[in-house]
Amino acid sequence: MLARKIRIHDHYDVAVIGGGIYGAAHAWEAASRGLSVILLEKGDFGSATSANSLKVIHGGIRYLQTLNIKRVLDSKRERDAYLRIAPHLVQPMECIMPSYPWTTKGKFATTVGAFLYNLVSRYDDFVSKTDSKRLRAGRVSKACVGENISFNAQRKTNGGTRWYDGQVYDTERMVLSFIMSAKARGAHVYNYMDVKELIVDKGWVKGVIATELMSGDTLTVNTDFVIDATGPWTNLNTQRWMRQDANQNIGQAALAKAVNFIYPFEVSNKAFGAKVQSAFGQGPLTSRLLFSAPWKGSSIVGTWYFLAKSPEKDNALTQEQFDFCVADVIALCSLEKGLAMKPSFVHIGLVPVKKSFKENEFPLLSEETITTDYKKVNGLEGLVSVFGVKYTTARSSAEKTIDLVQARLDSSSGMGKTASVTSHTPLYGGDMESFSGFQVQTEKKYADTLDEAVIEHLARTYGTNLGRVMEYVDKDNAMKERIPGTPYSIKAEIPYILDHEMVVRLTDLIVRRLGIGGLGQPSEPAIEYCAGVMADALSWNADEKQGNIDELRDYYRRMPC
Ligand SMILES: Cc1cc2nc3c(=O)[nH]c(=O)nc-3n(C[C@H](O)[C@H](O)[C@H](O)COP(=O)(O)OP(=O)(O)OC[C@H]3O[C@@H](n4cnc5c(N)ncnc54)[C@H](O)[C@@H]3O)c2cc1C
Repeated sequence: MLARKIRIHDHYDVAVIGGGIYGAAHAWEAASRGLSVILLEKGDFGSATSANSLKVIHGGIRYLQTLNIKRVLDSKRERDAYLRIAPHLVQPMECIMPSYPWTTKGKFATTVGAFLYNLVSRYDDFVSKTDSKRLRAGRVSKACVGENISFNAQRKTNGGTRWYDGQVYDTERMVLSFIMSAKARGAHVYNYMDVKELIVDKGWVKGVIATELMSGDTLTVNTDFVIDATGPWTNLNTQRWMRQDANQNIGQAALAKAVNFIYPFEVSNKAFGAKVQSAFGQGPLTSRLLFSAPWKGSSIVGTWYFLAKSPEKDNALTQEQFDFCVADVIALCSLEKGLAMKPSFVHIGLVPVKKSFKENEFPLLSEETITTDYKKVNGLEGLVSVFGVKYTTARSSAEKTIDLVQARLDSSSGMGKTASVTSHTPLYGGDMESFSGFQVQTEKKYADTLDEAVIEHLARTYGTNLGRVMEYVDKDNAMKERIPGTPYSIKAEIPYILDHEMVVRLTDLIVRRLGIGGLGQPSEPAIEYCAGVMADALSWNADEKQGNIDELRDYYRRMPC
C-alpha cells in the first residue's frame, strides 16, 4: 500500500465538511447529480455519532403516535430505500411492542395503529412503486410476546404490535459505502482533514482552509458552495469559522448526549420496545421508551438522553448516568444487577433536541434535521449546515439540500438542475437483485474454500466487492486463514482494505473497516496481528505502532472506572 496522496482540483462546485452519515450522503447525492465534490473529514469517516447508532432504520410506525404522517412516510420510504440500495448491509428487523390493558396504547389503539400504518404504506407503495407489502404491521398474541421478549417487559401484557424496521449490519461500513460511491463518481474524499476556516469574499463563501492532520500541511479548497455536515460540531465550527462569540445564536441547536449499551449476549430473541419509568437525580419520575435489539449475537439496548453541551466534553458517561442506565436495563431486560453492570461497550453521541431543558429532565428530540441556510439567517451566501437527528433520514435530507444547492448554482451560474437518483441507485457493494440470491451464488462459488459463516460475514460486509477480497486469496492461499482471535474475519480483508478503503490509523482498520471492534475491544491476538500488518504496509516504526495500539485502547474508555 502506498502512502496516501492528496490531489485536489482548482475548484469544486461543492465542498462537504464532515464525513458522518450526513456528510457521506450529501457527497454521494451531489456527485451522483454530476456536481464536482470534495468531502473533508477531520477524523475517520463514520467515526463520530454515526458509529454510535442503535442501527435501526426506522420504518416510521412510532410517529403515528403524534399523527405526523409526513414523518411516517419519510421514514418508511427511507427504510425501503436503504433495503434497496444496500441489501447486503440492511435487513428487515421484526420488532415487537407489548401492549397493556390499562394504557392508551392498549389492544384497540395498537390494532388501529397497525391498520393505519398498513393503509398509508399501501397508498405510498402505489405512489412510489416500492414494495414493502411483506413488511406489514399487525397484532401479535400474548403467547408470542411471552416467547420472544424478556420477562419484565411481558408482565401483564395482553399481546402486542409487530412491525418492521431495518437493521444496519455495520453502520460504519454504510457510511463508507456512501463515501466510496461518491468517490467512484469522481468526488475527492479525505479523512483526517480538519477544516479550520471559511474563505469569505464580499458576503459569499468561496472556499475553506483545512489542515491535513497526518502531515500538518495546509490545504486551500476553492468552491462555490459549502455544506457543513459536522452535526454535533456545527455550533463549535460556526463560532470558529465566523468568529462568532458563544452567546450569539446563529445556527445553534441544543444538544443531548445519546447513550446505548452493548451486551455480549442476546437479551431477547426479537427486537422489542417498552416503556420504563424512572427519575434522574432529583428530577421528576418520567416514563420513556427504551429498545433492545439483537445484533451479531449481542444486544444493543437504549437509547438514553442526557443534558450535553459539546461533543468534545460530553464523550464519556458519568457514574450517575451509568447507574441510571443500569437500573433501566434491570427493569426492562430482567437482567441481574451484576450482569446489567457489565456492558461490553457503550455508544455515546450528541443529537439535537427540540428545546433547552433543565438538568435532571429528559430532553425531547428535535423532530427533523435542522437545516440552516445562512443566506436567510445572516445574509452569507453559499453556506448551508445540516444537523440530523436520525441516521435514517440522511439520504432524504441530502436530496433536499442538493435541490437547494442546485437552485442557487442555477441562479448564479446557470448550471441547471438534475433529478435525484440515490433512492434507487445501488451503493458501493450493493449492486445485486436480492441479498438471498447473492448469498446462494457466493456460497456455491466459495464452498470449497471458506466455511458458511465466513462467507456470510464477507457477503454482508463487502457485498459485491467480495470477489475483489477473494483475489488476494487467489494470489496467496494463506490469505483465507482467519485473522487470529476473530470468529469470521479472514486475512485477505486487510490488504484489500489497505489498498482500497482509505485507512490511516489502526482504529480505522479494526473498528470501521473490518468491523471486529463493534462489540467491545477485540482480542489481543487480533490487535497484534492487524497492527503488525499495518506497520509493515505503512512502514511504521515501533513508537508509531505502539501509538496506534494505545489510541485503539483509548477508544474503548467510555465507561466510568
Ligand atoms: C446512541 C445513539 C443511538 C442512535 N440510534 C439511532 C438509530 O437507531 N437510528 C437512527 O436513525 N438514528 C440514530 N441515532 C442518530 C444518528 O446516529 C445521528 O443522527 C447521525 O449519526 C448523525 O450523523 P452526522 O453525520 O450528522 O454526525 P456525525 O456522525 O457526528 O458526523 C459529523 C462529522 O463531522 C466531523 N467534523 C466536525 N468538525 C469538523 C471539521 N472542522 N472539519 C472536518 N470534519 C469535521 C466529525 O469528525 C464527524 O465525523 C442515534 C444516535 C446515538 C448517539
